[in-house]
Amino acid sequence: MFDNDYGDDRLISSTKGEYDFEENVLRPKTMEEYIGQDKVKENLSVFMAAAKRRGEALDHVLLYGPPGLGKTTLAHIVANTMGTQIKLTSGPAIERSGDLAAILTNLNEGDILFIDEIHRLNRSVEEILYSAMEDYALDIIVGKGPSARNIRFSLKKFTLIGATTRAGMLSSPLRDRFGIICRLDMYTPDELKRIVARSARTLGISLEEEGGFEIAKRSRGTPRIANRLLKRVRDFSAVSGSGSVSLGDARRALEKLEIDELGLDGTDRSILHAIIEKFGGGPVGLDTLAATINEDVNTIEDVYEPYLLQLGFLARTPRGRVCLKGGYEHMGATMPEPLKKQLSVFDE
Ligand code: ADP
Repeated sequence: MFDNDYGDDRLISSTKGEYDFEENVLRPKTMEEYIGQDKVKENLSVFMAAAKRRGEALDHVLLYGPPGLGKTTLAHIVANTMGTQIKLTSGPAIERSGDLAAILTNLNEGDILFIDEIHRLNRSVEEILYSAMEDYALDIIVGKGPSARNIRFSLKKFTLIGATTRAGMLSSPLRDRFGIICRLDMYTPDELKRIVARSARTLGISLEEEGGFEIAKRSRGTPRIANRLLKRVRDFSAVSGSGSVSLGDARRALEKLEIDELGLDGTDRSILHAIIEKFGGGPVGLDTLAATINEDVNTIEDVYEPYLLQLGFLARTPRGRVCLKGGYEHMGATMPEPLKKQLSVFDE
């Protein structure tokens, strides 16, 4: 079973899959061990220290950003720092409002409730959260018709940490109830190099610095992918028998895995190829694009597109996705002149 809704365990996909059984071992436990995201760390640390000083629960936190950037890890670190328990669940896992009510009534003072993919909560469940977040109260309607009554239960003061890949899909009443909203950014190759080195130490993999940097550069700004590539590269270098992962080992392994020097895989290339060859560079609607390359729309939007946008290979326009100059160059194609003129705004 995959605990993501993309249902895949591809090497590049930044969602959890079968490759990630060691994920919990690799999770940093403290803010000091958590590499990068300096602004988020700094803000959260201040808010946590203040809440602790007041002897109160931390305000509700919304973490958003593409999968694999460390949202779950941060939630664990917050629980660790606050010295409280954490209960993990996800939007699609809470089917009925009764399920959420049961979770909420079992929380103790200061506990963290982590809801992954919070944008996928259904409406009736979400409505229970409003009073729970605002008044630490649970409003339940008992009975039907004219005899229906509203009963209010009080809850312990807990902290909700919501994680989402799509902050825009959250309803505003829900979004407004989060006191702290943090966006996680993709990591730089240098930060990923430190993450890979740390993971190698934890897993007992001997890794040369250049080998680590090569993995970092091809990890699409995402720690989960960096850790996954490290494990696959280790397998290749174990078979070749060199004992420690060198630059050459990393390059050879990543080539075999068909991950290019920027970290793009076959699906990224088919997205760019389809836009360039079949749709004259775009704009093309996401649904059409997904159908053309036989890929799931959500997977393209959550997993592939953020990195292609970040690289400046792709742009979103009101009429659909377009391939930019960098994307053409990477694919070894020439951009038609009229498109070049049309898209020059994106080159600045
Ligand atoms: P998300 O919840 O955003 O999908 P996770 O928190 O599950 O991502 O992170 C995926 C993996 O990446 C974790 O197991 C952890 O080992 C690693 N990781 C994420 N962020 C960091 C970081 N800042 N420093 C070190 N490792 C990290």
